[in-house]
Amino acid sequence: ASLARIEAVDDRLKSFLQVTAPQAIAQAEQVDAKIAAGEPIGLLAGIPIGIKDNLCTKGIVTTCASKILQGFVPPYESTVTEKLQKAGAVMVGKTNLDEFAMGSSTENSGYQVTANPWDLTRVPGGSSGGSAAAVAADECLIALGSDTGGSIRQPASLCGVVGMKPTYGLVSRFGLVAYASSLDQIGPFARRVEDAAILLQAIAGHDSRDSTSLDVPIPDYTQALKPDLKGVKVGVIMDAFGDGLDDSVNQAVQAAIAKLQELGASIEEINCPRFRSGIAAYYVIAPSEASANLARYDAVRYGLRTEADNLMDMYTHTRAKGFGAEVKRRIMLGTYALSAGYYDAYYLKAQKVRTLIKQDFDQAFTKVDVLVCPTAPTTAFKAGEKTDDPLSMYLSDLMTIPVNLAGLPAMSVPCGFDDNNLPIGLQLVGNVLGEEMLFRVGYAYE
Ligand code: GLN
Repeated sequence: ASLARIEAVDDRLKSFLQVTAPQAIAQAEQVDAKIAAGEPIGLLAGIPIGIKDNLCTKGIVTTCASKILQGFVPPYESTVTEKLQKAGAVMVGKTNLDEFAMGSSTENSGYQVTANPWDLTRVPGGSSGGSAAAVAADECLIALGSDTGGSIRQPASLCGVVGMKPTYGLVSRFGLVAYASSLDQIGPFARRVEDAAILLQAIAGHDSRDSTSLDVPIPDYTQALKPDLKGVKVGVIMDAFGDGLDDSVNQAVQAAIAKLQELGASIEEINCPRFRSGIAAYYVIAPSEASANLARYDAVRYGLRTEADNLMDMYTHTRAKGFGAEVKRRIMLGTYALSAGYYDAYYLKAQKVRTLIKQDFDQAFTKVDVLVCPTAPTTAFKAGEKTDDPLSMYLSDLMTIPVNLAGLPAMSVPCGFDDNNLPIGLQLVGNVLGEEMLFRVGYAYE
């Protein structure tokens, strides 16, 4: 059914860069055989899933939506997709993204532009726009994305699905193509909070192949799901409201907060004074890390190679041709911020701001169990509307970026529609390893 649905709608949506139908059918048949033989089946047995194309899949082309990785076939499997296979999940394909996960609309893909299923003239958000659109359009039941500054939560919000970024280190990044390593985290997309909890259950856990992986026990997340919120203290991030926030988004989020109160939660106003500085700090830190991570695309080891008379020309011609405009912009910003003389003024300063943002959150969590604010300041915008204005595109992640800088878990849950029938998302932010609290609040709310 999933493959048939993809066949029927994906020429319009373009959620998938590649549909892996033969492998999917083979995997599904294995599950069937196990059931027929009365053998135990995994947590996700037979569940069709879309995988963002920045996760390495052994023997299956992985491009990060970049021309520089055209035709690249990884020789190894990422930890998360390996875990999914063990759980019996059936990968139906690799989903579209902004090149190397840099963007907020999926328009920076080197291959195709994904449409928002609610209005095909609008963007699905990004960078995991393919995964969000695929789940919203029923092309698969669940999907994986990666979130460096909002790339799971913002597209989830714009496509009306649940999207979650776990605590930094909870899910192994082994086999995730690095963008900004201190911020990147893999997480679930689903239609319902319970499904997201089950998917996180399947992928979380310590991995010795990722040096930042946390060695902590993984609880049964579904045990946290309760119908009410009695005794839960909710803090509203006041700094997220005001300038730049759509009226419709504000109204929907205020109504959602009222509903949380009806469900038994107490509501408190919280100030995170450095919240809005997140975006400035992020656009120094993330490009800095990216400039180092992307140095590996040298035409020698991976993907595209432009032949030239000497080594230097081979590097430069390949990188000029293989990287898109946004990726080049980030590499230049990052190398500039890290260069001698500017390091202290930009990179070090941004790291200090990062610490202050984390301290704001730490302070907030001495008073409340969970924080709420909008996921994105607007609903889905028109394709092409922001492509010539990178700064306005960067503002899409105003609400999500501080969470990555602090390493915290957060989830976007659908909370209504604007006048154009476009979905709106409520962001729930948890304390370190507060995933259970997020699932509890999200589940009671939805
Ligand atoms: N939109 C942000 C960026 O372009 C976040 C992307 C992400 O989370 N991968 O960097």
